[in-house]
Amino acid sequence: MSAAGGGLPGAGLLGVDEHLRECLALAVPLPPADLPLLDALGRVLAEDVVAPAPLPGADNSGMDGYAVRCADVAGASEATPVELPVVGDVAAGEHAAPLAPGTAVRIMTGGVVPAGADGVVPVEQTDGGTDVVRLRAEAVPGRFVRRAGSDVAAGEVVARVGDPLDPRRLSLLTAVGRASVRVRPAPRVVVMSTGDEVVAPGAPLRPGQVHDSNGVGVAAAALELGCRVTRAGAVPDDPDGFRAALADALGAADVLVTTGGVSAGAFDVVKAVLRDSGTVRFRRVAVQPGMPQGLGVLRGADGRDVPVFCLPGNPVSAMVSFEVFVRPALRTVLGERDVLRPTVPATVRGGWASPEGKRQYARVRLERSAGGGLVCEAVGGQGSHLVADLATADALAVVPEAVTAVAEGDTLECLLVGAVPR
Ligand code: AMP
Ligand code: MG
Repeated sequence: MSAAGGGLPGAGLLGVDEHLRECLALAVPLPPADLPLLDALGRVLAEDVVAPAPLPGADNSGMDGYAVRCADVAGASEATPVELPVVGDVAAGEHAAPLAPGTAVRIMTGGVVPAGADGVVPVEQTDGGTDVVRLRAEAVPGRFVRRAGSDVAAGEVVARVGDPLDPRRLSLLTAVGRASVRVRPAPRVVVMSTGDEVVAPGAPLRPGQVHDSNGVGVAAAALELGCRVTRAGAVPDDPDGFRAALADALGAADVLVTTGGVSAGAFDVVKAVLRDSGTVRFRRVAVQPGMPQGLGVLRGADGRDVPVFCLPGNPVSAMVSFEVFVRPALRTVLGERDVLRPTVPATVRGGWASPEGKRQYARVRLERSAGGGLVCEAVGGQGSHLVADLATADALAVVPEAVTAVAEGDTLECLLVGAVPR
């Protein structure tokens, strides 16, 4: 790697970490709400869940078979079976009277092991008798008995604030007696694209127009996180039109994300209107792609603060800035704990240039090398309009601010946006 400039953000630029910190500071989880378990799928816990009782609730059989006193079947084998009278049946969930010495009960998986019994002989090792049973194996104390509390102890914390509610965790909460749970509600995210040239997906294009690929990409990324998303369509580059669209959006948003209109062009409407709001700041961040960024809070319909993230319009810049800045902020609003994507180190194949004083997020494809490590290779060009290359990238390779040239054999941390190759 060739380096210059000592790793500081370039002159007049704000560091990536500083901008991210400010984005995260705006991200406040919504007030918690109680939801029925199935409605809570994908939400994040806003309470610690304590098991009020042990699991299992009582010693029960792990097999269909016969509950016995182990001493009564000592020495039983194929050659020397032991016969015991069967004094009853215990179905799953049932209780039986204490087991008298020299007797057995037929018990099903999940049946409560009677007091006095200390072992179970599986039905496969018996003749299946209903009045008298021939037992062809010994019982080992405790074997095939699922002890009360062996899964969860009474008073145990089984899930904690910040745990995501996936099917397995919802199943556990049901097992410990819950029907509903306190969670962070999904935020309503409004995604607004700006630009006179931007038209709806599928609409016929006049020369110079583009389809709203940012709106769909950013909205899908927010949906994938579990947010409730509305795409506010394409808003023209005129201040009055933008203000009207903004008022609508704020009426229905917990978080607003805009794309376009934040750079130094003559028609950059987002910046022109929001710069004077007093609560939204625009800056140049030491990042490539995605240098112009805006962030702040606006007043929602009910007087609540609505965090606003203003991303640049170039499609790759919009998607990369969503990844690096907005995604962690939305995950914070969702109540999650580890909001940053994992990174993996990869060895560079080929090489490319990186601007001095900016942290570059280079689109790369990952591959496994013969030795088992990961190799990263730049996909196509790094121009911020190249949506086709972005779509095939597995990761964003993070090139530090000081580095001006990435070379074959360098190691870079890669932010995973796709799956890690096996
Ligand atoms: P801007 O940041 O508004 O100056 O836009 C920069 C570039 O991104 C221009 O070429 C725009 O046409 C393009 N662009 C802006 N918004 C979108 C969008 N929603 N979808 C696709 N391209 C866009
Ligand atoms: Mg524009």
